[in-house]
Amino acid sequence: MSIGKPAKSFSHFQEKILDICELSFYNRFSTLGYRVLKTKTPNRADGLPGAERAEGVERRMEKGLVTVIGAGLAGCEAAHYLARHGFSVRLYDCKPNKFTPAHSSKNLAELVCSNSLKSGDVWGNACGLLKEEMRLLGSLVMEAADATKVPAGGALAVDREAFSAYITERIRSDPNIEYVPEEVKELPQGYAIVATGPLTLDALAEDIRAKLGGALHFYDAAAPVVSAESIDYSKTFTADRYGKGEGDYVNCPMNKEEYEAFVEALVSAERAVAHEFEKGEIFEGCMPVEVMAARGRDTLRFGMLKPVGLYDENGKRPYAVLQLRKENVAGTAYNLVGFQTNLKFPEQKRVFSMIPALKNAEFLRYGVMHRNTYLDSPKILSADLSLKTDGTVFFAGQMTGVEGYVESADSGILAAMNCALKMRGYAPAAWDCGTVSGALAHHVCAETDNFQPMNANYGILSPLGLNVRDKALKKRMLAERALEKVRENAADAEDELRAE
Ligand SMILES: Cc1cc2nc3c(=O)[nH]c(=O)nc-3n(C[C@H](O)[C@H](O)[C@H](O)COP(=O)(O)OP(=O)(O)OC[C@H]3O[C@@H](n4cnc5c(N)ncnc54)[C@H](O)[C@@H]3O)c2cc1C
Repeated sequence: MSIGKPAKSFSHFQEKILDICELSFYNRFSTLGYRVLKTKTPNRADGLPGAERAEGVERRMEKGLVTVIGAGLAGCEAAHYLARHGFSVRLYDCKPNKFTPAHSSKNLAELVCSNSLKSGDVWGNACGLLKEEMRLLGSLVMEAADATKVPAGGALAVDREAFSAYITERIRSDPNIEYVPEEVKELPQGYAIVATGPLTLDALAEDIRAKLGGALHFYDAAAPVVSAESIDYSKTFTADRYGKGEGDYVNCPMNKEEYEAFVEALVSAERAVAHEFEKGEIFEGCMPVEVMAARGRDTLRFGMLKPVGLYDENGKRPYAVLQLRKENVAGTAYNLVGFQTNLKFPEQKRVFSMIPALKNAEFLRYGVMHRNTYLDSPKILSADLSLKTDGTVFFAGQMTGVEGYVESADSGILAAMNCALKMRGYAPAAWDCGTVSGALAHHVCAETDNFQPMNANYGILSPLGLNVRDKALKKRMLAERALEKVRENAADAEDELRAE
């Protein structure tokens, strides 16, 4: 299939974009995570990566069309960002004609596993801070998450159907975005953002491998979901850890004997056979529960089954606790928190039903495990997330080596922002690691011999330069610094990239 060619119906947008390209040049440009050091004139392609194809670059700049491949979290953010700034976008996704092994909804921006976007705490958690940075940048994913959230203590969890429907509606009704329901099999030509995710379909993955060199991968796993009505509530209690929240979790306690029998069954249960190509590393944050359990008898009690901060109606702390979290606003389904698994389906039913509250549980979805592909980004991507060999093709999302829903969506914004800048003749400079967004992007592109995926955490932020011993205060100061930077730079970006 040939992509990157503008559709005829977009000609009026092309005219408009041409006008914008000619008008929008300033002496200084700054935006989230980086500062642009130089300005460019709109009709010169020299200095841009891929300048040897200057004529083609110039032609495509005039047309202002960007191809985005993959309408997942990163792709939808990228399309939305570009459309919002006056670019025309052709957004490709194989749905609904074809699905990856983990996707099943016809809607865009599908959450393939947990319905939690992790912590909502802006001042005490790096992923919470990242969310706030994204809100300041006009994130569609955050807008949808805030509009469709379900109670989940300190976490930001969403009704997954409502969340995806919200984003689908916004994307499909945007006059600057043309949705093309087709599988893409080759790397695109012209300005493009590739965001096909960890389960990129085979033909494109093969093309990427052939053109860019060997991709890396690790295992990723999803947790099962049970129907609410099948839970035995006489064996549960409702509480949030340390009382934070409004009683959003259903807790399934186990005594010592129950826990030990459960762990024994878990480690000896039959696992699904991995394909030869799938035998590789497991990302620590997605470790299947049976692999964790095999590390030691008490590992789960100090991990996903930890009882710390949880007390039943009698004020008693159980020996071990499985937490169940709502899957949807209606509360008709619950997921087994932290129970990503690769056990065979009948084994999941047998072993997880040993937890007293789940004795008669109806499994609406079983846990699954998939290969999770990502690029060797430091070797093939420039600091702006475009290919070193072709500065018009950007990558975004989980396939760049960020890990997680929120991190993937954020990377879609950054790639789109860089793409927009480049199309208007600006050259991006170094990422600012004082923001979580900038630090993640820096991680993806910084040189290293052992590249590993990364999720949002304080460890990747540049130090404060002060010795602050109080951890809570330190996190607050890091957050204030990051948000100030993002606020300032987002205002600049809006000013510079605004569609006229
Ligand atoms: C099984 C599994 C479970 C996970 N669980 C969690 C979790 O619980 N929490 C968490 O934070 N993260 C989780 N992740 C990671 C999470 O998937 C990603 O972080 C996030 O969805 C990635 O966003 P993305 O936009 O990069 O890709 P995706 O959201 O996967 O979007 C990619 C899109 O590209 C489309 N596509 C693929 N190939 C093609 C092609 N050739 N042509 C056209 N379209 C194509 C797909 O249909 C899809 O819509 C999980 C990942 C997997 C694989």
